[in-house]
Amino acid sequence: MSAEPAPLPAHHVLILGGTTEARRLAEALAPDPSCHVTTSLAGRVASPVLPPGDTRIGGFGGVAGLAAWIVAHDVTRVVDATHPFAERMSFHAAEAQALTGVPLVALRRPGWTPEPGDDWTFVDCLEVAADRLPGLGSRAFLTTGRMGLHTFAHLTDTWFLVRSVDPPQAPVPPHLEVLLARGPFTLDDERELIARHRVDVLVTKDSGGSATAPKLAAAREAGIPVLVVRRPAVPEGVPETDSVAAAVDWLRQGA
Ligand code: NAP
Repeated sequence: MSAEPAPLPAHHVLILGGTTEARRLAEALAPDPSCHVTTSLAGRVASPVLPPGDTRIGGFGGVAGLAAWIVAHDVTRVVDATHPFAERMSFHAAEAQALTGVPLVALRRPGWTPEPGDDWTFVDCLEVAADRLPGLGSRAFLTTGRMGLHTFAHLTDTWFLVRSVDPPQAPVPPHLEVLLARGPFTLDDERELIARHRVDVLVTKDSGGSATAPKLAAAREAGIPVLVVRRPAVPEGVPETDSVAAAVDWLRQGA
């Protein structure tokens, strides 16, 4: 007979969210009555999928605001489960930990690694991706999100298929088709898109995770190159877990 996992100590956990992992963590903690969970969202998506537990939406007003919120709401643990490209918030979380002493862990999904048959070019940022793009193709499937779209707006000779949850705002590239969709996406979805739109280059952030990975397999199958934007730096000294289960274990350790 397998042993029951130890119950969670009484906590108010603040999850800095905006990712599937953040939602899954809130779902994993929901059945435990001793654990009060608040998930914080930036408010970028018009109709977010809300997790169980409490939610708050909108910025905190910088590090001082985050630290004040943590203290005012008797938060006892913070999980930075923001997207790997939400670089500012991860640094704010680390600075708030230094101010408040409330323990922090980062829940960060592993990045993607190329497989045989892949033709990936890694770049450090969207600006470099925009510089390299014309040399790789002329019909781009751009999956880096609507926020950085202005970076590609000057590329008048490239046709773009842009997929995002909410519609992008100007400035955007002149030759553009927008597909409003929220992951996960299947390999069949991605194959069909690449073939129907005669896509000849894919642009992606190294977001990691399974929900949006099928585009990489579809690009491999189609033999098209992929521009991969590397992850930004993360704050030093913050313990990191790469799974929801490991984050729950971290919460279980110590009262
Ligand atoms: P960012 O550059 O790291 O953060 C910018 C500001 O947005 C922060 O200073 C903070 O405002 C506010 N913010 C960010 N995450 C927040 C959260 N979970 N709760 C409350 N406020 C938050 O972040 P971003 O790249 O704009 O991303 C915004 C959100 O979208 C993140 O929560 C992230 O998880 C999600 N997301 C981002 C990407 C991406 O590619 N960047 C992709 C998918 C999802 P204050 O300083 O006022 O507190």
